[in-house]
Amino acid sequence: MKIFPKVLKKIGGITTVLIRGNDEIEQIIQIAKKIGLSNFVLDTNSSRCVDCNGKIEAIDKIRIMEKVPPRIYERQEKFWSCKGCKKLYWEGTHLVKIQEFVEKLNQRLK
Ligand SMILES: [Zn+2]
Repeated sequence: MKIFPKVLKKIGGITTVLIRGNDEIEQIIQIAKKIGLSNFVLDTNSSRCVDCNGKIEAIDKIRIMEKVPPRIYERQEKFWSCKGCKKLYWEGTHLVKIQEFVEKLNQRLK
């Protein structure tokens, strides 16, 4: 704890947040409150690729017919493609879990 103020002096001008606890939601809430965030939004239009950090953009379903498993193609309507590595994304269980996580964050921010 005593080292922290020394680090702040060295990097002066940069806002820092000392995070306490091990609960990831609580940690994000601490940051949100410190920097004045009042709401979290999951915006697929400004998402980044988990592999290369490239920009992700919506792609017409017909263009990826041969590139995803038939079962996925039949079940999903929306697809996104990374402009960098061309990785394809769709609304799978991972996105549902992220949406639930964002809802938990917003509930805690109220
Ligand atoms: Zn990528």
